[in-house]
Amino acid sequence: MQVISPDALRGTAKGKKIGVLTGGGDAQGMNAALRAVTRTSLVAGAQPYAIMEGYQGMIDGGDGISPMAWDDASGILNRGGTVIGTFRSKEFMTREGMLKAAANLVNEGIDRLVVIGGDGSLTGLQEFASQWSSLLDELLDHNRITTDQRQQFPRLIYAGMVGSIDNDLVGTDMTIGVDSALHRIQAAIDAIASTAASHQRSFVVEVMGRNCGYLAIAAAISGGCDYVLLPELPPEDGWEQAMCDQLQRSRMAGRKDSIVILAEGAKTRAGEPITAEHVRASIESILGEDARVTILGHVQRGGTPSAYDRWASTWLGYQAATFVLNSTGEQDGPVFGFHGEEIRQIPLLKAVEDTRSIPGLISAGQTDTVLSMRGMEFTDLIGIFQSLSNPNRTLCAPSDRRIAIMHAGALAPGMNTAVQTAVWEGISQGFTMLGIRDGFIGLVRGDMSELSWKDVDGWNQEGGAVLGTRRRKPTIEELYAISRSLEANKIDGLLVIGGWNAYEAVQLISQERSRYPGLQIPIVCVPAAIDNNTPGTGMSIGADTALNVVVDCIDKVKMSASASQRCFVIETMGRDCGYLALMGGLAGGAEQVYLPEKGITLNRLQRDIEWLKNSFDNHGRSFFLAVRNENANPNYTTRTLANIFDEEGQRRYDTRTLIIGHIQQGDAPTPADRLLATRLTDAAMGQLASQIKDDDKAIQCIGMCHNEIILTGISEAMKGTNRRHQRPKAPWWLHLTHILDCLNRESF
Ligand code: ATP
Ligand code: MG
Repeated sequence: MQVISPDALRGTAKGKKIGVLTGGGDAQGMNAALRAVTRTSLVAGAQPYAIMEGYQGMIDGGDGISPMAWDDASGILNRGGTVIGTFRSKEFMTREGMLKAAANLVNEGIDRLVVIGGDGSLTGLQEFASQWSSLLDELLDHNRITTDQRQQFPRLIYAGMVGSIDNDLVGTDMTIGVDSALHRIQAAIDAIASTAASHQRSFVVEVMGRNCGYLAIAAAISGGCDYVLLPELPPEDGWEQAMCDQLQRSRMAGRKDSIVILAEGAKTRAGEPITAEHVRASIESILGEDARVTILGHVQRGGTPSAYDRWASTWLGYQAATFVLNSTGEQDGPVFGFHGEEIRQIPLLKAVEDTRSIPGLISAGQTDTVLSMRGMEFTDLIGIFQSLSNPNRTLCAPSDRRIAIMHAGALAPGMNTAVQTAVWEGISQGFTMLGIRDGFIGLVRGDMSELSWKDVDGWNQEGGAVLGTRRRKPTIEELYAISRSLEANKIDGLLVIGGWNAYEAVQLISQERSRYPGLQIPIVCVPAAIDNNTPGTGMSIGADTALNVVVDCIDKVKMSASASQRCFVIETMGRDCGYLALMGGLAGGAEQVYLPEKGITLNRLQRDIEWLKNSFDNHGRSFFLAVRNENANPNYTTRTLANIFDEEGQRRYDTRTLIIGHIQQGDAPTPADRLLATRLTDAAMGQLASQIKDDDKAIQCIGMCHNEIILTGISEAMKGTNRRHQRPKAPWWLHLTHILDCLNRESF
């Protein structure tokens, strides 16, 4: 979807007025969307209005419809909930309520509306828009508006965005708030797992999501849980026994704890709600052991939004605002939602109707239809969970087919998750799984050993890389030793999980392997790099975790500077790829980012400094934040930039630098990275298994584009990259610089 520069946007919507409201339950990221709608509108020359307390603000009028200035959207990006309030207005569901709302909007001159909410809010929006004409006719009949007003506002121009932690809207992959809710859930499960393991205990964890099991299945995978109960898959009678059998088999396979995830909307086939207490009591009576219940409740909605919920909601808000400001309203308004790394418009009415049909379809037992409506990722996750939690895996006798796993390149959080998935998948398919230590150096030495199911249990939540990883690529001379090592260990397939250097090494193998029999085996590469620069994929494992570290640092820096006049230059990693700097700047609310893709010139610095001085002198600014990628320019280093800002600022502010450094690689993987690692590795293992079966020795790269698994040959994948700079030629995120320029710097 097109993102245009602030210069192209500026003044395109002069004189237009646009309202924005948040409805239904609150969700983290709503504020980022509100901020984006507000500021995009201001840059376009329109006047934005916040409608307070959901639809009730339109009905109440007065302070309920409040004009927004640039600064009204300041300091809200990192806040949970919604700063303009939300309310479930019963009055808006009546004709009289809607009449009042329409009269108030028309009297303010507002005929454009962006609504951020759940299916109810979007239905309300659709209803309101479809009744707009008749509402205005009635208002005119009763002299509540003038003939001029009636003519001036023939229709309501609108768009929606889904703000809901449930991720239940049919047609979009991720709704605003889901990722943050998963962060909360995962933190709780990780904590529970550590205490549960100490006592050999079972836990039942109930998560939100209403009729949608997305949070539950995603949490079950990212938390490495044993059993999950979903609304979409009502269990067969006697499921309590089946559940306990499964928990017991996992214990026999070596697990110390058992965690069952229960979606709040889960029901039996007879339509009876399944309660956490019932699950607990079943475990206690069937297994005769202590089980505890944790109902996570509203913790899931709370707290600061994740990096994803900030940048994604910002992008959605930008697109929804530009749409509503440019549209003539002749067509029905859309909902804006994500499909992988892409924003899509989907018809609002159909999306809401489909969403609302799901509970009925579940009751009618139409599981296949429900699953297809939930989308491919959902179905994928269910399949993966079933195979990863399959307790029979340990019963498979080790076969004579052997797959080795290794890392190469820099460390990326999520590497351990990938190894756990690979080992469990491989064992369940009957392979013997081996782990190679320390990348290609270890492979040259033949340093590898068998990994059992129990060996890797719990790795999914660990940062770092237990197998070890090294940046060093093998030389041509070392290929002989590598070939021998693979032969000596009878390796039938190789899984390489890593970043740029891993891919270059594998490409070297592909070019040279005709001379080495041991190298003539199927090889699959799985992308893992915090820089998000790996060939053949839109997202690499680890990038989301690193991004969350960057955003967390930005939040803390902002807080530290809140009592003084400060200019900060923060340096992120990324080598020659600007992903972390740009997305960190976008999610953290930086005024400026400096990227290797765009470079730094003296001219640009001069403009930035003029803007900076002006904003401190004339617009009350007390903080300026620039995010610089470590390789944005070899001469304009972070220190140099800070010195220039400091010198030119002439004591307007103190200047500080922060080089975030290796903590970007050091965190435990986020839910998004665990899910990505699990999905990519699951697909990679499927690919390896089928190649081994078919004696197909191709070298393939697994990737994720638009939330779908893609497979590319190694040379094809490398073709899509800029070799010198080790980054993708056309990254999907680079055009988001326009959004950052548009939202983070008021132009004077
Ligand atoms: P969530 O379900 O995620 O909490 P939601 O937006 O679905 O969010 P609802 O309470 O269903 O939450 O709806 C929010 C508000 O939208 C309602 O309180 C009401 O003001 C308005 N609304 C919902 N349905 C309609 C409708 N059919 N006609 C008019 N207004 C509606
Ligand atoms: Mg709802």
